[in-house]
Amino acid sequence: MTTSERQKPVFRFAPSPNGPLHLGHALSAFLNRDMAEASHGRLLLRIEDIDLTRCTPEFEAGILSDLDWLGIGWESPVRRQSEHFPEYQAALQALIERGLVYPAFLTRGEVKARVSAYEAAGESWPRDPDGTPHYPATDRERPKAESREMLASGKRHAWRLDMRKALDLTGELLFWTEIGDGRTGEIAAEPEVWGDVILSRSDAPSSYHLSVVVDDALQGVTHVVRGLDLFHATSVHRLLQVLLDLPQPIYHHHRLILDADGRKLSKSEGDSGLGELRARGMSGSDVRRLVGL
Ligand code: GLU
Repeated sequence: MTTSERQKPVFRFAPSPNGPLHLGHALSAFLNRDMAEASHGRLLLRIEDIDLTRCTPEFEAGILSDLDWLGIGWESPVRRQSEHFPEYQAALQALIERGLVYPAFLTRGEVKARVSAYEAAGESWPRDPDGTPHYPATDRERPKAESREMLASGKRHAWRLDMRKALDLTGELLFWTEIGDGRTGEIAAEPEVWGDVILSRSDAPSSYHLSVVVDDALQGVTHVVRGLDLFHATSVHRLLQVLLDLPQPIYHHHRLILDADGRKLSKSEGDSGLGELRARGMSGSDVRRLVGL
């Protein structure tokens, strides 16, 4: 990389190949490309495929071909997260050594049963911005010796951030710079609303939160342009950047494309798949108009 490349703004489009792209992705990709061009910056493509059960090479090939059809170019090589698990592991290990994460042994079913029992008794259980119940305190409060024994016996576990400990360590309010379509300016991060977030799963050696902050830093990303559905996740990303001593990019969370019922488009429901628009004979510039650009 030359010195002038290093100083250029760096944007990235980071789809997960767990389904076909839809209009919301097209908006994201166009905005990243437009902003990179307007600032004489670089555009990277990152394939976020840590979920090895849902991501497939076929979906990845579909993403590359859809972007081509939209007329969007990117730098190569493409970074594929599944090829970089050791980097995420190293970041996790650093947090383990500082006692900021703990092994979490409860299964999804056990957590669900515990929350249901609590709620059935009329108590309210905290939920994160996505509506998922916070992880119970059981494993965080488990005596260290017992956790070590359970780890040594090979019991399946994830790793979760000890949110209270992390916040005590950072001590002060954290902010990020937001220039997107919703609230803008210096936004106060509220990572506590997520509870003890998962950083590594029993079936995947990293989580979205961990790999995204590690990659944005390793790739020198200066501008994160993505949908408003990830606005609140940025609180966790900001905290992880401080804990791991990583630089902070500028964030631009853009409007979402909603379906006729006002719901966010989702890959799983096959909404407005780009493949279908393409089969109907539409062009990249038709799609630009469709997403309001
Ligand atoms: N991989 C995420 C998705 O497809 C996007 C992550 C990001 O842009 O930070 O929704």
